[in-house]
Amino acid sequence: MSMTRFDLPTPEGDTLEFWEAARDGRLLIKHCNNCDAYSYYPRPFCPECWSEDVVWHQASGQGTLYSWSVIYNNDQPPFRDRVPYVAAVVDLAEGPRMMTNVVDTPFEALRVGMPLQLRFMEISDDYTIPVFAAAGRGGGHGDADKSAPSDAGGASDG
Ligand SMILES: [Zn+2]
Repeated sequence: MSMTRFDLPTPEGDTLEFWEAARDGRLLIKHCNNCDAYSYYPRPFCPECWSEDVVWHQASGQGTLYSWSVIYNNDQPPFRDRVPYVAAVVDLAEGPRMMTNVVDTPFEALRVGMPLQLRFMEISDDYTIPVFAAAGRGGGHGDADKSAPSDAGGASDG
């Protein structure tokens, strides 16, 4: 008995290369030679100027969080085993906006505009998907907090 999974892509034509790269830990987007725009998801044309002169470009992996939702309920396999998870829209450094997930980041730490770093998550033997996590040193909460009131020099109270 095989269970239908709703998260597995159907690679065909142009997206085949994308999924192969993802398995290698590379996120591919498209670059337009005509208008210089970057685009995602991969299409055989540029969504800005409709030129078909587009080539693959490996994304830097840097992005910022545009918006997100914490998903608590999803009955479709395999998501029901993953909840709660963060469904996010991320602005890639190159410009395109991408639907993805934010992983390994506490929900309460999520902020609009926070810097994110590309990661990859293996979802089956054949597929690895690009996801994001908070950028910077992994783990640990900001130790650069200026919460210590040690600098109150010449304050006199009256
Ligand atoms: Zn273009």
